[in-house]
Amino acid sequence: MITFPAPTFREWSGPLTEDLVRDPAKFGLGQIPRRLQPNGTAKSICGFCSTGCGLTLHLKDGVAINATPDPDYPVNKGTACPKGWEALTPLDAADRAKTPKLNGEPTDWATAMQIFCDRMKSVMAEHGPESAAYISTGQIMSEEMGFLGALAKFGMGMIHGDGNTRQCMATAVTAYKESFGFDAPPFTYADFEESDVLVFIGANPCIAHPIMWQRVLRNKRQPQIIVVDPRTTETAMAATQHYAIQPKSDLTLLYGLAYLLIRDGAVDTTFVEEHTSGYAEFAEFVQSYPPEQVASITGLTVTQLQTFADSIRIGTPRVSFWWTMGVNQSHQATRTAQAIINLALMTGNIGKSGTGANSITGQCNAMGSRLFSNTTNLIGGHDFKNPAHREKVAEAIGFPVESIPDQPSLAYDQILEGVESGKIKALWIIATNPSHSWINQKRFNDLLNKLDFLVVQDMYDTTETAQRAHLFLPAAAWGEKEGTFINSERRLGVSRQVRRAPGQALSDFRIFRLIAHAWGLADQFAEWTSPEAVFQILKRCTQDQPCDITGIEDYAMLQKSGGIQWPLKKAHATDFQTERRLFSDAQFFTPDQRARFIFDPPESPTELPDDDYPLILITGRGTSAQWHTETRTAKSEVLKKLAPSEVYLEIHPEDASAQKIRDGDRVTIQSRRASMTLKARISPGVSPGQVFLPMHDKRVNQLTHWSVDPHSRQPSYKHCAVKVVLKLD
Ligand code: SF4
Repeated sequence: MITFPAPTFREWSGPLTEDLVRDPAKFGLGQIPRRLQPNGTAKSICGFCSTGCGLTLHLKDGVAINATPDPDYPVNKGTACPKGWEALTPLDAADRAKTPKLNGEPTDWATAMQIFCDRMKSVMAEHGPESAAYISTGQIMSEEMGFLGALAKFGMGMIHGDGNTRQCMATAVTAYKESFGFDAPPFTYADFEESDVLVFIGANPCIAHPIMWQRVLRNKRQPQIIVVDPRTTETAMAATQHYAIQPKSDLTLLYGLAYLLIRDGAVDTTFVEEHTSGYAEFAEFVQSYPPEQVASITGLTVTQLQTFADSIRIGTPRVSFWWTMGVNQSHQATRTAQAIINLALMTGNIGKSGTGANSITGQCNAMGSRLFSNTTNLIGGHDFKNPAHREKVAEAIGFPVESIPDQPSLAYDQILEGVESGKIKALWIIATNPSHSWINQKRFNDLLNKLDFLVVQDMYDTTETAQRAHLFLPAAAWGEKEGTFINSERRLGVSRQVRRAPGQALSDFRIFRLIAHAWGLADQFAEWTSPEAVFQILKRCTQDQPCDITGIEDYAMLQKSGGIQWPLKKAHATDFQTERRLFSDAQFFTPDQRARFIFDPPESPTELPDDDYPLILITGRGTSAQWHTETRTAKSEVLKKLAPSEVYLEIHPEDASAQKIRDGDRVTIQSRRASMTLKARISPGVSPGQVFLPMHDKRVNQLTHWSVDPHSRQPSYKHCAVKVVLKLD
């Protein structure tokens, strides 16, 4: 690790002096927000997953002491998963970061800001604006994302910044943009209840999105539930049809279904002719996917394929298609997502109740990141390369147009390759823990060691990434700050401050404000005074975009309305419905207003099993009590009790028998990159030749293989070659 000489304290001038002296009264911290009763309740939005459940936070002497599901919120209707009930617990963890740290030693904010600015400026002055970058998150508020993106790119002059949303949602973004002309998930959660056939592809909502699954269970239409997943997941067990395909044969399956729909005359030709483009070429392309061939690749029978196709054909009242990480985290993810979109288009299942090609999001504010993070899209879903868009955004935020870069950021993996090659020398990581969560962990951590300057900003200074930081900035957490999230169905909701952050920790918003002042940008960001002030700026950036939210007056309107889905134009501010879906007029966001059929031939995953590594490793969520790297959920004794006490490997009885492995034996799983020892769980829920690991253990991504989808650049977490042997002590 590089160390720095102790900084010389420099007297700050102007507003910075005030800000650097942490005055709780001035920051509004340590005080009950004015609108709250000290022993009353506050309505807020859960800060874990993209479902975006409403929570009621119960206050005692101005501090939240308990969380319960909000019975009136239209998303969760009085239910919450274990993480929501335990939302406050991680705030009290003993390892909350309380001071900035320099090379692992506590320091003060003045020194931290001095170091941050001096080091970043010096790297960028010596090596150019592309030599510093940031990696953000889907966990902070939209206003914080907007501030970070504007500060780093329009203020500090960086070109490159991406978010951990690249690991979960980039595929859906790319697929929608190419197919619909804008990143526009079309659905509303009411579609779970109003569908006759729900097709889940690479999705396990029973445990990954349990409140969405509750909405499915409320469906009174006795729907068919079709699950496409190599494993017999909890959702597959509840399905009426489960197709346990070979891993990564989903693209072939989807083309095979399109073949059958065309052959059987089961296509909505009126919709296709009037509202889509590229169908003739697509119909010709899928002629290469007859059922016999598709059956041999997917492992399904021709009869199964026919049953599946018959279940979604035109004439079935309402079919909805839902996908998540099993599709998004793939070597050919974008084309797979678009193959799902193609099926929805060719059967006319879009824009109507109970239909849609619907991507379920991961993190609580992945959708906010998609619109406002200013990473690969210019704020508000604009295009960095489009001069008119740059002019429009510059005017909306009151910055000179010259401050807006004319190129989008490199993607996450490309930023990392820049670090590896030495082009990127300074990295600022906010509210994410990639030393645990990025694929091929050793390569990731090796390349971090090449950095001249690593800044980590997080609520805990104990994460694997934070411990590598040269400079650590302590951040307030969900519940200790205010702002908006956008959930999977495009619903904006307000998350409230009901706790004071510990020690000297500050909200990410306040940290960005400090940096703006320290960098010398106080005048440029004079309007960016509070989350709600920035909300108004972000609103202006959305004007006349598909995501136009100029009709949302303020936070009070969001709270009163039970959240509001985008779009809401000013003209409809007083006249809108709680549940709205896109494309009810079949007008898409492409220049000709037609949705596009997009396709490419399937390709093999980049690492296939062989004699040395004969098994395919699949990873996924373990339980509804666990969240990603468990940075927060492992802080709750309640949630820990709901999760397995020890990590396990699911292996099929045949593969276990071949290695003389019995249930509960200790085994070693080894890939070309690493090995880990753990307990075997023998299960027919995985197919022969495949093994499954819950993704939460920090060793899992030591095994995984660095491969990304070429269009979305999302990592392929769910396919690498491994071997498993009995551990002999
Ligand atoms: Fe929170 Fe998601 Fe659980 Fe709802 S489903 S309570 S948003 S973690």
